[in-house]
Amino acid sequence: PFALPPELEAEKYRVLKTAFGFDAFRPGQEPVIDALLSGRDVLAVMPTGAGKSLCYQAPALVMGGLAVVVSPLIALMEDQVAGLRLDGVRAEAIHSGRSREDNVASWRRVASGEARLLYLAPERLMTERMLAALGKLPVSLVAIDEAHCVSQWGHSFRSEYLLLGQARAALPKARMIALTATADQSTRDDILQKLFEGSAETYVAGFDRPNIQIAVSEKRDAMTAIERYVDARKGLSGVVYRISRKKVEETAARLQGAGVNALAYHAGMEAQARAAAQETFLAERGVVMVATVAFGMGIDKSDVRYVVHGDAPGSLEAYYQEIGRAGRDGEPAEALMLYGLEDIRTRRRFIDEQDSAPERKRVESRRLDALVGFCETTACRRQALLAYFGETNPPCGNCDVCLDPPEVIDGTQEARLLLGLVRDTGQRFGAAHIVALAVGHESETVTARGHEKLAGFGRGADRPAQDWRGIVRQLVAVHALEVETGAYGGLVMTAKGERVLAGEERVSIAKPKPRTRERRGRMVA
Ligand code: ADP
Ligand code: ZN
Repeated sequence: PFALPPELEAEKYRVLKTAFGFDAFRPGQEPVIDALLSGRDVLAVMPTGAGKSLCYQAPALVMGGLAVVVSPLIALMEDQVAGLRLDGVRAEAIHSGRSREDNVASWRRVASGEARLLYLAPERLMTERMLAALGKLPVSLVAIDEAHCVSQWGHSFRSEYLLLGQARAALPKARMIALTATADQSTRDDILQKLFEGSAETYVAGFDRPNIQIAVSEKRDAMTAIERYVDARKGLSGVVYRISRKKVEETAARLQGAGVNALAYHAGMEAQARAAAQETFLAERGVVMVATVAFGMGIDKSDVRYVVHGDAPGSLEAYYQEIGRAGRDGEPAEALMLYGLEDIRTRRRFIDEQDSAPERKRVESRRLDALVGFCETTACRRQALLAYFGETNPPCGNCDVCLDPPEVIDGTQEARLLLGLVRDTGQRFGAAHIVALAVGHESETVTARGHEKLAGFGRGADRPAQDWRGIVRQLVAVHALEVETGAYGGLVMTAKGERVLAGEERVSIAKPKPRTRERRGRMVA
């Protein structure tokens, strides 16, 4: 922590009270502000709603001079400027959504020293003319909002953000702060490297959103599960994420057919149709937005009661950000993820097919592992999620695992049966086939290959196929098996799998639960 001289300390509180009308800082705000006022550069990672804006607005007023704020979205800039003006703070925005005259008038007020804050889109700031003009003004602070956009490893990379790496050099006297609501360790490192040449004071605050009940369910028939879930929450606002445009359209149509006020949103739609859908969602109650990840940045709707992931998200980072759109008002909200091995295969394929450096593939692959681990955890999900962001917490009592803890049992026998079947079929078949063999399902695909003659065939008939699918997923989560990215998603053995099969290592699994109506009712329908 940085201790400020008494005058600065007093001025900080005076600004808080007189300019913003607050009596106290929120947790996390003060260390960030103190670091800036002590002349440091800062990377601040704080959840949405924590009060990031104040972290640069208050120092801007205390420092004097001009603060330049970079933001990727016009709507966000306009909201901020309007809010500041209500507080009597002179703020301007220059962006492509305003007329030339308005922009010129704004610039005059900036150049004459009237304005305290200037909001700009990244590509506007990083023109030679703008930098030269700002170089002649007393710029005291540069704030970069939604800073995760600079990371190519993140889920919302914006190429304009890369330019901002040169802002440091162009405005050497200004302090710099980068702010974001989500960044895991690799994104943080990336932001530090790209914006700060490697070093800045980093503050990470309060990730927990205890009012959101978190659950993960096996994905079987996603459409039906989503329809039931949404139908059981009629009249509430919700968001349903799907992985592709096609699935968005299909899911929206299905919900509409069931009488739900559902809208579609994805990047393939006309800008106007997209804006209209967003507008309706924000303005009306009880609208369900079915969307790809294109939907969400800067969406601030307080009464979203649930977020459903119809397909596994890209990473825990993306997941955290996406479920964070629920329950902004602090009232109870829910997040449900439907997840199956085919999702993991799809994600692995995305990574493999990317034309990117091996190092990046490794990072993304590790992230996917973390996601799978989260989905198969037998401990509190929130603990697992927050641990990923470096926080330690007690069990939350508000996730599916806490509410209905699985019994952890020795699953070595079960694992060896499945691993043996994987090996004996040449490591080419997917989970469905392996499970069919375990339960002794004599289908044509089985008999055509003579697989009914395998030693393990039917040896798992005492358990339903669903249990075996769950065990396969857990074996993938603990890296005893891997899902191939080829067309069939074949399961292959890992070194750990070999050890388990050889009886050299044991594995624990969650004891499969009977699939009762009651349970389904609470979890999915
Ligand atoms: P973020 O950008 O982190 O999502 P905002 O900066 O929009 O969050 O702040 C969220 C809300 O919290 C705003 O309504 C803001 O006025 C309020 N807020 C911020 N700091 C304080 C504070 N110290 N005391 C009371 N309210 C605050
Ligand atoms: Zn929990």
